[in-house]
Amino acid sequence: MNFTKTTARQFVRECEQELRNDFERVDDIALHNQEKVLKAFQNNGIQARHMFGTTGYGYDDIGRDTLARVFAEVLGAESALVSPHIVSGTHALTLMLFGVLRPNDTLLAVSGMPYDTLCDVISGENKGSLADYGVKFDVVELNTVDKQPVFDFDEIENRLKSQKIKAVFVARSRGYCWRSAISVEQIAELVKFVKKISPETLVIVDNCYGEFVEKIEPNDVGADLVAGSLIKNIGGGIVPTGGYVAGKEKWVEQVAFRLTSPSIGAEVGSFIGGYLQYFEGLFLAPSVVKNAVRSALLFAKAYSKLGFETLPDGKTPPYDIICSLKLNSAERLIDFCGAIQEISPIDSNVVPMPWAMPGYQDEVIMAAGAFVQGASIELSADSPIKEPYIAYIQGALTYEHALLAVEHTLVKTVK
Ligand SMILES: *Cc1c(COP(=O)(O)O)cnc(C)c1O
Repeated sequence: MNFTKTTARQFVRECEQELRNDFERVDDIALHNQEKVLKAFQNNGIQARHMFGTTGYGYDDIGRDTLARVFAEVLGAESALVSPHIVSGTHALTLMLFGVLRPNDTLLAVSGMPYDTLCDVISGENKGSLADYGVKFDVVELNTVDKQPVFDFDEIENRLKSQKIKAVFVARSRGYCWRSAISVEQIAELVKFVKKISPETLVIVDNCYGEFVEKIEPNDVGADLVAGSLIKNIGGGIVPTGGYVAGKEKWVEQVAFRLTSPSIGAEVGSFIGGYLQYFEGLFLAPSVVKNAVRSALLFAKAYSKLGFETLPDGKTPPYDIICSLKLNSAERLIDFCGAIQEISPIDSNVVPMPWAMPGYQDEVIMAAGAFVQGASIELSADSPIKEPYIAYIQGALTYEHALLAVEHTLVKTVK
């Protein structure tokens, strides 16, 4: 099938019609989360003065401190650390791990291997990794039922009973795996299960791409810590850089000691740029995440109708903002990413190429014509160059941009 702009528009409109119920569900979640965020602003008495930055040590930086309180409330956590000095999601996750783990502790990953960039954090040699500090690591793979991931509770029970586990690690989103995301309800079940067998064991969560996709967050259901990036969901597309860790006060404090120093923790840290974009981004985030989820649903619907395998696949609701699309050939994958780049507001004239990105096992191609460099809450597509050539598409600040992008990729890559 060959598409022209006109036939692509018609086709996408049909897809939209079929997604009516899904979109309604997504809109309802956004409304719930918008109200939650608004209330958190009001409960914390946010005013113009909270937007301003400070310099130097940043003692009594009221913007930094109140931003953290608003984040904590929204995430259902006791406490949070939110900082432009956390350079990325990987950094936030690294801080979370080093904050809670001590020599001879064991970390147990229960959603398979953690995200690519965490491999060296866990087991890198002579890099100051967890392994270098004598932290042990073990992993339980996920089972999948109908492409929906399910925890292997039998195996988790075995590991918890055969050794002392300091922390159980879960990645909510899919990473570069052919699976859907894990729901917060599943995380709730995991927390109950783990705490019943081993009350001292922490449950810590890679929250990337999960925020505001559902009405509840992992901390709401008893997770001890979550970590994520501010240039994904929760930054609403306008936060320029940063990351966060949120959860139980005692553990967030340990993470703060790691972010700065054991002697000063979260008492310090200035940011002369101020916090306006941080507050505004959080305020916009529920609505932007709604657009991103609608985008993922639209890409999935269009390509599944054309016979491609996609996730979401229409069977379960989305639990992250990503659409995985099996393109089956390297050439089509590269074309697809090229088309996403071409339909971007920034760098639309650039042709993305696979490259050996630091922290990733395979060469990776990334299309991201984003205002904020690499921001994947903005429309973007990326993929390791390996069989079966799955494109991971995420983001879209506006739904209209997503619609135009689906059309454009259809014209450019479906032949
Ligand atoms: C994006 C992501 C990360 C962190 O990536 P950064 O590029 O360092 O922000 C970690 N885990 C998952 C599942 C992710 O999607």
